[in-house]
Amino acid sequence: MVQYTEQFILLLFFTLKNGKHFIFITYLCSLIRSITIIIYMYRTNTCGELRMTNLNQEVILSGWVQKARKFGGMIFVDLRDRYGITQLVFNQDTNAELCNRAAKLGREWVIQVKGTVAERSNKNPNIPTGDIEIISSELAVLNPSETPPFTIEEDTDGGDDLRMKYRYLDLRRSVVRSNLELRHQMAFATRSYLNERQFMEVETPVLIGSTPEGARDFIVPSRMNPGEFYALPQSPQLFKQLLMVSGFDRYFQIVKCFRDEDLRADRQPEFTQIDCEMSFVEQEDILGIFEGLTKYLFKTIKNIDLPDFPRMSYADAMRLYGSDKPDTRFGMQFVEIKDLTAGKGFGVFDGAEYVGAICVEGAAAYTRKQLDELTDFVKRPQVGAKGLIYVRYDLDGALKSSVDKFYSVEDLQKWVERAGAKPGDLLLVLCGETEKTQKQLSELRLEMGARLGLRDKTKYNCLWVVDFPLLEYDEPLNRYFAKHHPFTSPKPEDIPLLETNPGAVRANAYDMVINGVEIGGGSIRIHNSELQKKMFSVLGFSDEQAQAQFGFLMNAFKYGAPPHGGIAFGLDRFVSIFAGLDSIRDCIAFPKNNSGRDVMIDAPSTVAQEQLDELNLKINPHETPVTNT
Ligand code: ASP
Repeated sequence: MVQYTEQFILLLFFTLKNGKHFIFITYLCSLIRSITIIIYMYRTNTCGELRMTNLNQEVILSGWVQKARKFGGMIFVDLRDRYGITQLVFNQDTNAELCNRAAKLGREWVIQVKGTVAERSNKNPNIPTGDIEIISSELAVLNPSETPPFTIEEDTDGGDDLRMKYRYLDLRRSVVRSNLELRHQMAFATRSYLNERQFMEVETPVLIGSTPEGARDFIVPSRMNPGEFYALPQSPQLFKQLLMVSGFDRYFQIVKCFRDEDLRADRQPEFTQIDCEMSFVEQEDILGIFEGLTKYLFKTIKNIDLPDFPRMSYADAMRLYGSDKPDTRFGMQFVEIKDLTAGKGFGVFDGAEYVGAICVEGAAAYTRKQLDELTDFVKRPQVGAKGLIYVRYDLDGALKSSVDKFYSVEDLQKWVERAGAKPGDLLLVLCGETEKTQKQLSELRLEMGARLGLRDKTKYNCLWVVDFPLLEYDEPLNRYFAKHHPFTSPKPEDIPLLETNPGAVRANAYDMVINGVEIGGGSIRIHNSELQKKMFSVLGFSDEQAQAQFGFLMNAFKYGAPPHGGIAFGLDRFVSIFAGLDSIRDCIAFPKNNSGRDVMIDAPSTVAQEQLDELNLKINPHETPVTNT
């Protein structure tokens, strides 16, 4: 505040170019500064902003003591706030009483210091304020602190659990704080991009009804309606579609969603979506706007100009990468060699529906031990292959394989040719049932990519995966499920197949993938109540069930629903890709651990019997729960 007033007045008089007045005004400014400081304020500046241009200024800083060290007759204190760190100096020779008080400061004490900005003799080029220090003249302890359970510095000695328990302290660390700053910038830039394009942010309810949308719902008992429950939204899907019926033709919301799923590094029970919907659009319009958003974020936040995103059909993604979210930062595409392997007496290949290989460049020199490690990797229950076959294409052109007994050098030559291998490369082969084997080969490909350092976090490969199948068949349950969700429109040309071959129907659905992570996904929706009814019936809903659960949507569609479609991005995943994080936890202020617990506030927790009674819940959590069979 002080410096803004100063600057304003100075600027005014510079503009007037009147030297005499300038001297008077400079004097007036320093008077204002001194009076303001005397009047008392917690700080005139932050701990991140003082530079050489501020030399000799009297300032007040407030913040946390990161570190205090004694050096001869001096005490140096690193004072930290959200903006940075500034070094304070207390000098025994010039102010012994103050220095003695400074000697008592402990880590994380909150203090206020008045002093003068001076040039540092021992500059620290690693921090922006490293050229200056504050020669302290006054010190006030605003609040002492207990010794924190871990060091609050970039490299901390605190383990994961401890840091989660004291997350409010962990958040003081610049590495964690910067992830939240990035998150804020991304959310802010997203709002600005969408706002400029007429998107309107509309809030949708959090207490809604339970609907089957893929994952399990979190449910909330209703006190006023005994025996009835709300569900927390897995996404605002139905509401955003209803908003289209209402005529809000461009909607978005940065919104919390809830899914009661088992947790992984890229999953949290509550997470944030950038949820969007548009009317009077086709797939192409949506891909255009949201490819634009992604490019805008990369440009404004990382100053990266991305090329246009390639499109890949779901079928190609599965055929070439065994995944609907391929990491295209590196090649190693699958090659099918079933035809080349058949009829040579190797029963394992002969009996397999699919034989696929990847060519690992420059890995022919892998040792027996390394190959054994890879075999163990594919045999892990998470991958589930029965074994791994390899062909080494040595630099001298020799071909050696783990199936030499069945295949001649000429046979192997055909395999390596198909795979485009050169001397020095290694072919890794898996076989079995097509879909399963492709998934296993995908895991192996990613593992090899990681081993060879090809999954560079500073490289960004974006693509759209399109033409997803509309439905997925569940063998054990003997029924179809919607691959995306039941509101996704089939491709118009495939609609007749709904009657004859539902599994072959392609959807107007798309995913945005960055570096092997599904960042966003959406679809063009069904907007015709008859087609929606048909879709529910293909999914095994009786008319009554469909009416009971989605009657409101089908009714709404009878009142002039416009053609519409949308997409939702996972904000947490988006931020963690930008920040180069392995887990989305680090870009969430207060995340849950892998068992869905917030260890800081100790939730979930039991509640008093009275609360349960009030909710008409007859369960006593301490009794053995009765399980439904
Ligand atoms: N609601 C969908 C989801 O959460 C996204 C969409 O189709 O727009 O995945």
